[in-house]
Amino acid sequence: MIVCPLCKTQTNENSFVQSYFSSINDKEYKLYHCFKCQLYFWDPMGIVAELYEKEMFDTYDDYHMGDKKLSEWCIPFFTYFPLKKGRLLDVGCADGVFLEHAQRIGFEVWGIDFDGKSIEAATKKRGLKNVYQMSLENFIDYAHSENLKFDVITFFEVLEHQDNLDKFLTSIKSLLKDEGYIAGSVPNGERLLPEFDHLDYPPHHFTRWSKNVLRIFLNKEDFTHLKFYPASFFRLVDISYRLQNIFTNTIALNFKKTRAETNVNPIGTSTDKNKKFPFPKKIKKFFILLSALFFSVVVSKFKKAQNIYFQAAYVPFNRN
Ligand SMILES: [Zn+2]
Repeated sequence: MIVCPLCKTQTNENSFVQSYFSSINDKEYKLYHCFKCQLYFWDPMGIVAELYEKEMFDTYDDYHMGDKKLSEWCIPFFTYFPLKKGRLLDVGCADGVFLEHAQRIGFEVWGIDFDGKSIEAATKKRGLKNVYQMSLENFIDYAHSENLKFDVITFFEVLEHQDNLDKFLTSIKSLLKDEGYIAGSVPNGERLLPEFDHLDYPPHHFTRWSKNVLRIFLNKEDFTHLKFYPASFFRLVDISYRLQNIFTNTIALNFKKTRAETNVNPIGTSTDKNKKFPFPKKIKKFFILLSALFFSVVVSKFKKAQNIYFQAAYVPFNRN
């Protein structure tokens, strides 16, 4: 039997909705849908911490330069979050772009990330001080020894990477002050065609969330004052990208080769099926055109945001 990582309901092993072979770690994963809490989760789960520094994905590489703009899923924080000051920890802070903005409006900022290259960018390019290449477990040891607690803990695009949901939120709560707040975001599991988003797969993403599933999870963990806001809507380029994946079935082919592999074979004539799919510009234009047609057909789906921003308070309190 397979056990739902959120509500612990048991599911039959054969009732998976999709199977997926990851060429990153040569492992087979199965996607399950919990009929009780509606969470989508992959089995087996297991974080591969080294993955984030290896430059296999453009998404993570971009942070190594330290010049990323604030991601769309962080923007609701600066509009809706009830505090504008206090001690804030960002878990999975990458190059510290969010922390830099939070510091600017008045927060005392701290950050941790697995990726040492991003942390280096956060300190050297952005001049942030309290940012560390550290696991959450190690940071908890450090924080507890220093008697360090936080008013706010944020985790943007982090929850879907966790392989132990209960442990993750228990860790977060152990670092929060009384009446502390959390905020973060996840990819919206109800967005258009998540199955064709090559980044939304293990071994980096293990769960798919909707607003309702998030609500069940956060309520179960004693969070109140839950607020959800849609973040980052589909653009034409996203649709074009999905279509490329659908038509060429290159979900597994879109992973960039590691630097090591590139060095071995600098002219790129390898027949390695994992190499990035070379897409001619003319075909790209064709897909963008096709996307425009597709756009009108799926317009209703566009209302669904690509990411969900959430915020919540740990201890109920009466601010008003
Ligand atoms: Zn469940």
